[in-house]
Amino acid sequence: MGLIVTGGTVVFPKENALQQVELLIENGVIAALGSDLPRTGHIVREVNGYILPGLIDVHVHLRDPGQEHKETIETGTMAAAAGGFTQVCAMPNTSPVLDTPALVRDVIARAKQYGYATVRPIAAITKGEQGEELTDFRALQQAGAVAVSDDGRGVQSAGVMYRALRAASALNLPVAVHAEDNSLAHGGHIHAGRVADKLGVQGIPGAAETAMIARDLWLAEETGARLHCCHVSAAAAVTVLRQGKAAGVRVTAEVTPHHLLLTEDAVWDWEANAKVNPPLRSERDRLACVQGLLDGTLDLVATDHAPHTAAEKANGLSAAPFGLVGLETSFPLLYTAFVKSGVLTLPELVHRMATRPAEVFGLPGGTLVVGGAADLTVIDPDTAGVVDPTAFLSKGRNTPFAGRELWGWPVLTMHKGRVVYERD
Ligand SMILES: [Zn+2]
Repeated sequence: MGLIVTGGTVVFPKENALQQVELLIENGVIAALGSDLPRTGHIVREVNGYILPGLIDVHVHLRDPGQEHKETIETGTMAAAAGGFTQVCAMPNTSPVLDTPALVRDVIARAKQYGYATVRPIAAITKGEQGEELTDFRALQQAGAVAVSDDGRGVQSAGVMYRALRAASALNLPVAVHAEDNSLAHGGHIHAGRVADKLGVQGIPGAAETAMIARDLWLAEETGARLHCCHVSAAAAVTVLRQGKAAGVRVTAEVTPHHLLLTEDAVWDWEANAKVNPPLRSERDRLACVQGLLDGTLDLVATDHAPHTAAEKANGLSAAPFGLVGLETSFPLLYTAFVKSGVLTLPELVHRMATRPAEVFGLPGGTLVVGGAADLTVIDPDTAGVVDPTAFLSKGRNTPFAGRELWGWPVLTMHKGRVVYERD
């Protein structure tokens, strides 16, 4: 017996199209797409709103193993489902660091047990993320790692990065870089700018990011590797990426909702809940990120979901850890800011949050097609809702978006044909 989903408007990002069609789901797979599908022997489920391919977030911190007080694979994937995501890439800066095939396999297996979303681990570039000795990329890839990254810190040595890119290139494995030159960034807490000056807090200049992206771009050009730049935040970094792409370098990049929507001024209202790495920067940087997203220099949106406890975030701007949660707010934030305002069409936004992420990381999904997994989310464009961190399924409540009125909330998420989230 199959399930027919009817009443919704399906989003086709590749065609930039919206179409009122029904879906027939059988055995977790989309068996048919069309109008007036035969009902015999099937359950019919009526939905309201837009039906999107399951969103894909290529940058999340599930904190598991080792920091389960911040998040677990279970709570992180529940949060993903609530945010409309059916696949997430988990960053390796856990404890221990995800630098062996056994650890990679364990994360995949435990995520499968819960079944809320597919977890695609990203393994470390260097052992223990120490920036020195490369991990075994081939073995990690065979275990299921979809990319390598030392996210949370930059690979300081150009020589180590060069060897990493050469090794990854031979395997066609993406290298996702957290670009941060410690000689420029070390000891900083927020953007080196107006607010840091007023507060007398040490700042992190945009150049800490731009310098390393420029270095890695030309290392990628020489090695032919697939370079992916995480959470781009600085105007000059967008410029450098635009030049690199024009020169034919195989580079892709992501931007977060917070870098698209907030500036350093968020620190006044939100203190440590606006402390994130890379930091929220100037209005000029923010506008450059928006422009980069619109013109395709920045390929996709990723949340950099980084849960911390309230106690950790209460330690003040200097002592609190970096990071914001994002899984449960990112779609409505961007729907409200860009689609409702007419800057992007809904299929264009979905393209940046599902289709491009799948393409860049070589994942299945990202569009709804016959024969593909029934990973989808239904969003309600008409009902406003306010961001309420106390209602998050994530253990993290650290968001500078609390209290915002947003549209486009996910109301139903299906993972492999199974309902994994329903908004009441
Ligand atoms: Zn990072």
